[in-house]
Amino acid sequence: MRVLKFGGTSVGSAERMKKVSHLISDGIPKIVVLSAMSGTTNCLVEIARAFYQKDSVTVNTLINELNIRYEVVVADLYKTEKGGLLGKELIKKHFDYLRSFDIHSFAFNEEHAILAQGELISTALFHYFLEENGVDSVLLPALDFMRTDDNDEPDLLYIEEHLRKIIAGLTQKNLFITQGYICRNASGAISNLQRGGSDYSATLIGAALFSDEVQIWTDIDGMHNNDPRIVEKTKPVAELSFDEAAELAYFGAKVLHPTCVNPARLRNIPVRLLNTLQPEAKGTVISDKSSGDNIKAVAAKDGIIAINIVSTRMLMAYGFLRSVFEVFERYKTPIDMISTSEVAVSLTIDTLKNLDAIIEEIGTFGTVSVEHKQTIICIVGDFLADKTGYAVKIFEAMKQVPIRMISYGGSKNNISLLINTIHKNEALKALNKGLFDL
Ligand code: ADP
Ligand code: ASP
Ligand code: MG
Repeated sequence: MRVLKFGGTSVGSAERMKKVSHLISDGIPKIVVLSAMSGTTNCLVEIARAFYQKDSVTVNTLINELNIRYEVVVADLYKTEKGGLLGKELIKKHFDYLRSFDIHSFAFNEEHAILAQGELISTALFHYFLEENGVDSVLLPALDFMRTDDNDEPDLLYIEEHLRKIIAGLTQKNLFITQGYICRNASGAISNLQRGGSDYSATLIGAALFSDEVQIWTDIDGMHNNDPRIVEKTKPVAELSFDEAAELAYFGAKVLHPTCVNPARLRNIPVRLLNTLQPEAKGTVISDKSSGDNIKAVAAKDGIIAINIVSTRMLMAYGFLRSVFEVFERYKTPIDMISTSEVAVSLTIDTLKNLDAIIEEIGTFGTVSVEHKQTIICIVGDFLADKTGYAVKIFEAMKQVPIRMISYGGSKNNISLLINTIHKNEALKALNKGLFDL
């Protein structure tokens, strides 16, 4: 069974939803994963924040504005009285629910229930639209099979078992619609796979069903060689290996959720990135094939914190790095980059959570300094160890940009540079010119 995921812009209006219905109506068995309509999850985040702040005026204003937006969608989407009525009832049910929370006792699990409404609405609206047009489909509630474990990681075994059981009971059906992003946690409460998580839902479903292909339909024709929001001339990369795509997604290429490549790589399922607005464009194929030894693309990840530890105890000592790493492990904080000298180690993390506690503990090993507002520039390709010239090209392109840290050789697919975020745009543009001649 093939999995097709459509992102927020692809289902962002009644018109766009109609386009999606054409793209999926070819009779081939498939699971269609939908995001919330564009802007919805951001708005739900704002609503939850206003609930936390006990700001009832903002809560009401935001809910009312979003409600009106959906009334317009319903009016544009359905042509029959029955369809319109179903749509209106659906919207009323979800907006009554949003209004039902007690502002004085708002809690964390309620925030997650609010964030889930976007995908619940978009999938139901789309399912009714297909029904109205005589397209037989089944609405599969993601909350019945999508689950995370005690570490908040997707529980693939659970997902596989439950999803397969549900589908096995629907033998006559071959078109399934389900929600991206939302899931239940290990205790069964509503949760999600982090922002942009619908991509992850799609590859998890693909892996659970051993799909022949997962398609991620979005508003751009594939993974570009650089960030199109910052750099003017970028171009799609036709082929990427799983490793290359994973590096780009993790280090900031927003077109893919940071960890969504993992389930596809696990089951060797090709992932195709396609453009809803330009369906004939070839896009990008991500697979286990290596696509040649060159520099493929550049991405940037902001919000990086650099931590430097200087300690003479490191001199000629073993076990020092282990003690440092253990602190990060205890606080479940991943390290992205690392660079060492005889008496100092610099490393980077991407979260402020537990930073104070981490600094206090590693402060016992030496003198610690911290720099905020850093950016990792990640250059991705297939860098053969015995081939010369990659580094010189990169540093030649970056000659005007101050570089704080360098990581090369950790993986054959990634060269990372740490810079101050104020130099990010300049760096991405310089690399576009120097590496891709664009
Ligand atoms: P969706 O709502 O379909 O999930 P996203 O907004 O999450 O779409 O991702 C698509 C956007 O990612 C594009 O519109 C583009 O601006 C941005 N983007 C950032 N880096 C890249 C890149 N390297 N290649 C393609 N798109 C990128
Ligand atoms: N709707 C969610 C978000 O905006 C998930 C997604 O779009 O992938 O983050
Ligand atoms: Mg996305």
